[in-house]
Amino acid sequence: MKKWRFLLGFGSETGQSKSIAQGMGDIASDQHQICADIFELDEIDKQFKLEDEPVMVIVTSSTGDGEPPSNASKFWRKIRREKNPQFLSHMKYTVLGLGDTNYSNFCNCGRVLDRRFEELGATRFYPSAWADDAVGMDSTIEPWLQGLWPALKETLGKIGNSTEASVSDISDSINQLNLSTENKPTVNRQLSSSNKFKSDEDTITYSSSLTELTTLTLPPKPTHSLAVKLIESAENAYQPSIEGQYHASTLTRRECLTHDAAVKAVMSINLQLSEEEFAFEPGDAVKVVCANNENEVNLLLKRLQWMDKASYQLDISISPDNTKKSAKVPTYIPLMCSLRYALTNCLDIRSSPRKNLLRLFVDCTTDEDEKRRLEELCSKEGSEVYIKYILEEHLSVLDILNHFPSCQPDVPILIEFLPSLMPRFYSICSSPLDDARSIQFVYSLLKFEPKNGRTYERNGVCTNWLNEIDLGTKVQIQTRISQHFRLPLTLDTPVIMIGPGTGVAPFIGFLEHLHLSSKSINGFDVNNLNTWLFYGCRHRQHDFLFEEQIQMYQQINVLKHLFVAASREDNYPYRYVQDQLRANGKDIADLIYHRNAVIYVCGDIKVMVRDVRETIAQILKETFDIQNIEEYMKSLETSRRYLLDIWS
Ligand code: FAD
Repeated sequence: MKKWRFLLGFGSETGQSKSIAQGMGDIASDQHQICADIFELDEIDKQFKLEDEPVMVIVTSSTGDGEPPSNASKFWRKIRREKNPQFLSHMKYTVLGLGDTNYSNFCNCGRVLDRRFEELGATRFYPSAWADDAVGMDSTIEPWLQGLWPALKETLGKIGNSTEASVSDISDSINQLNLSTENKPTVNRQLSSSNKFKSDEDTITYSSSLTELTTLTLPPKPTHSLAVKLIESAENAYQPSIEGQYHASTLTRRECLTHDAAVKAVMSINLQLSEEEFAFEPGDAVKVVCANNENEVNLLLKRLQWMDKASYQLDISISPDNTKKSAKVPTYIPLMCSLRYALTNCLDIRSSPRKNLLRLFVDCTTDEDEKRRLEELCSKEGSEVYIKYILEEHLSVLDILNHFPSCQPDVPILIEFLPSLMPRFYSICSSPLDDARSIQFVYSLLKFEPKNGRTYERNGVCTNWLNEIDLGTKVQIQTRISQHFRLPLTLDTPVIMIGPGTGVAPFIGFLEHLHLSSKSINGFDVNNLNTWLFYGCRHRQHDFLFEEQIQMYQQINVLKHLFVAASREDNYPYRYVQDQLRANGKDIADLIYHRNAVIYVCGDIKVMVRDVRETIAQILKETFDIQNIEEYMKSLETSRRYLLDIWS
């Protein structure tokens, strides 16, 4: 029997859309006998042609200012430029956009693609959805996925003959689906009277409302397809297997930029590149390949009872019992490596287990109370509890295993179902005019306390790794070229830079670039510059990043105006950057309205992004009595005069 298939395209910057698309591909094949051909959107015309695709599902995020992720930009351009209004009239589609409502261009990439597909004649077979990180994406993604499968099957069924399956094949597969006991999606398990988790308050291990239920709707059990053989050998230097073009660099300097009394330490890193062809400009970011923490990996190895075999070589292959057609050995794990290597360098052991993994854990658990609770957590009825206690608290797979001591999953399951460890991005704060083969960036150290279900203390994965590696360590990096976050082409265009905390990083790059340009370019007169920096910290004595450098830029006339906010200083009138913007409202409004200023906002504080936009809108409205201020703000954004570089 030929199988139904559809095209599943993803646009992913940090790996989230990719991991969701891969999860969807597994569910399609395991639970619905549908084959999803999964490609990056930019594989268009290489791996797929839209002209030949009857059904397409798109999963995409947007970057800071609503642009497409870097592996979707070609697709985006092609779709936007297409002139034929019937180009996609043969196609049925739907879109899952990922975004954050704190940004004005929420889910812009997904929304634009959704609109454009419709304009080009495609028909939405199922409503598109916009998942909002500000309130938790899973509250949208979970119900959207539940509705997707019946809609997709109906659509594939209707176009049956024109795709690969015949009508009789289709009814066969529907029957198979309905009759399969393995995948039966409900469970009826009596609660044992000795529920060991019973407590007065609801926690990760107990919810009074769920224990009363006698029937739970479980996701069908995913099929797993990997087998692992062990080859006893000494640990080797494995070749990392990283997708994409990375450059080798060396850590040459690491420095703490904050005072001991600062609430959060901020570090600065310098990397020296060994290759010539690395190119970057101020405004770009760098993608850093990192590794998980050694202690955390050891804890996981111990919990899996694999400590004594941790250095044996794994031979990962497709299991002989495999029935999954789409089964493949993960490409991000080297063909020959140890479990220690895979857990350290290839797998995201920190991410919260998705429900399909929890479903598999149920069958690896011997204690009846633990089994029941795991069923609750992955059931439809337990969706809110799963979001509240696992996703929102960022519980890792190790946390879950610690809470359920009788759960002993097989290693191949983890290798197959944990997502790949993704590189992290950092805004470059140096200029290529200084040294085109050296880059600098800064990062905040992240620490998460062991509470609310988290069973051990942990730091941010990449920032911890950057902090622990020795000088001289090789670091794999890639540039992320910014589409629009660039200095204006004309010297006298006013530049308004708003960057609290580490958000100041790209502006240091801008100012350094202007400073070095003034030294090296004939006719570059710093007197023509019109640069404004709004910086925010907690306490000017503790965490004013790059203070001396910024003062130097002021002295040499590269930075014309500096305004600092300090959120934890008593008796200081400006707590947040928006207070300083308001205090200088008339000047700012004039620069924007009359002098075509470009506004740049950068940082990791989502609320700041929203508040800064509201403040600027308010200032403009009050100063110039602009009636439709939202339209005016949108025009600033579309004309690339209001630019964001935001992360969370
Ligand atoms: P992770 O291990 O990834 O942990 C951070 C994540 O943990 C958060 O995303 C959050 O979802 C989650 N979390 C929140 N609370 C908890 C909790 N209680 N327990 C467990 N987990 C929790 N960062 C900088 O510092 N400087 C920069 O210049 C910079 N530039 C960037 C530019 C771009 C374009 C982007 C996309 C990001 C940038 N970032 C920057 C962010 C950076 O990429 C990383 O996300 C950040 O350093 C954290 O990485 P990490 O691996 O240390 O933390």
